[in-house]
Amino acid sequence: MAQEKKKLTTNFGRPVDDDQNSKTAGIPGPTIMEDIHLVEKLAHFNRERIPERVVHAKGAGAGGYFEVTHDITQYTRAKFLSKIGKRTEVFLRFSTVGGEKGSADSARDPRGFAVKFYTEEGNYDLVGNNTPVFFIRDPIKFPDFIHTQKRNPATNAKDPDMFWDFLSLTPESIHQVTILFSDRGTPKSFRHMNGYGGHSFKLWNAKGQYVWAKFHLKTAQGIQNLTRQEATRLAGEDPDHATDDLFQAIERGEYPAWNVQVQIMTPEQAKDYKFNPFDMTKVLPHGDFPVMPLGRLVLNRNPQNYFAEVEQAAFCPGNFVPGIGPSPDKMLQARILFYHDAHRYRLGANYHLIPVNSPKGVKAHTYQRDGAMRVDDNEGAGPNYYPNSFQGPEPHSEVAEPGIEVTGKTGRQPHIHPNDDFVQAGNLYRKVMKDEDRDHLIGNIVDHLGNAQKRIQLRQTALFYKADSEYGSRVANGLKLDVKEVERLAKMSPEERAKATQ
Ligand code: NDP
Repeated sequence: MAQEKKKLTTNFGRPVDDDQNSKTAGIPGPTIMEDIHLVEKLAHFNRERIPERVVHAKGAGAGGYFEVTHDITQYTRAKFLSKIGKRTEVFLRFSTVGGEKGSADSARDPRGFAVKFYTEEGNYDLVGNNTPVFFIRDPIKFPDFIHTQKRNPATNAKDPDMFWDFLSLTPESIHQVTILFSDRGTPKSFRHMNGYGGHSFKLWNAKGQYVWAKFHLKTAQGIQNLTRQEATRLAGEDPDHATDDLFQAIERGEYPAWNVQVQIMTPEQAKDYKFNPFDMTKVLPHGDFPVMPLGRLVLNRNPQNYFAEVEQAAFCPGNFVPGIGPSPDKMLQARILFYHDAHRYRLGANYHLIPVNSPKGVKAHTYQRDGAMRVDDNEGAGPNYYPNSFQGPEPHSEVAEPGIEVTGKTGRQPHIHPNDDFVQAGNLYRKVMKDEDRDHLIGNIVDHLGNAQKRIQLRQTALFYKADSEYGSRVANGLKLDVKEVERLAKMSPEERAKATQ
């Protein structure tokens, strides 16, 4: 039997008699002001857009669950990780980073990989990427970096000079640049890539003992990438290919899954480690810190409405639950504050009340009140201050997190081991990549860097050379640069190199 159709009304529920003809004075018009339905319709249309995310604007999302497969209670007291077999509802948003909301899914760009776990102790957000590292280690560089990946202020076009000028003056980016210009920089779909938490996080157990941890989400579909030729073709022919692929796979019942793993590092290991383990430009080598299985994440529910669930989804690395917390990673320290800030700007002070962002496993109780779009009961008649003697919510000290030792002087502290930035990029090129990966990497770089000014090409190629002399020489040859000059630049300090390529 056909479902009875809903009745069309105004926003305030008044039945609408006609949605095809505006009210007019006579035939054919003019229209008259008393047509409140027409005014409401046009006025709301003008207000349909909310600010686009400055980064990660183009995205796709889906719901599902996380299931614990291995016991890690010796490391964390987080309740959602407390028992093998325990399931927690999740919402995951994938994205590209630099492009606008209408940009192509196949762009060479990291992919955002943001997971919201709706736990019984509040929402835990793991806001990662499909790459284990990032371009920079200090948040003070973030706005500059992002500007260079976007549009030239004069031409409003993408600009290879801006793109490579910044990267070539920022040597710590070399590891991420190497991953980005490998075929992993153009994943075949959101289903065929890994996710990484990126930062080291603090895990602490019921006894208050803590360790550092990195999370990896390995695709059960297998890694599959596009070549740059395929990515370029898709950008024109099917710019929403990954968004569509995710939706259609879930519609078909082919639920994508990821095996969740964790690397653990004790505070003692961190103290003496050969590089700063809180530096987001580096991975923790598997040989030193083996990955341990933890759980499985499955996406099995498409959003019913894109705007409600995906566009309004708001993730913040500062959404922790007891048993998981921040590390001293400077990037993380900034992210835990400024993602909330971005959402307050984009969605409003009460964005936590939007259903996709609200905790589901527990009811939130705070002394925050009022503000635009406070659409729940605003904590009713309960007290709006603390302390109080009127049964307001109480803090519970048993969730307090173990502190860490901190010493030293305040100040703007530069990174003191500049050459350690090249080790992992070199290892990736030499030891991990296969011949075909290296061939594609060089081709992808030459194709893109070749559009920048020659002095910038030289400066950037010197960084590839510092990572691995063969890597740098092959890029130099591809760009028809003098390898001897590249080698000379590679031996200079960053300041000398910048001066020599002004
Ligand atoms: P391993 O040999 O133990 O690890 C290499 C890892 O590199 C693999 O496990 C795989 O990680 C990843 N990988 C494989 N092929 C590629 C590719 N074509 N492009 C990018 N990554 C690839 O050595 P280490 O742990 O000592 O790491 C060596 C280098 O591998 C690092 O410097 C880093 O560049 C890269 N890497 C390391 C990761 C880590 O967490 N240790 C994670 C990813 C890359 P996965 O299973 O995560 O895909």
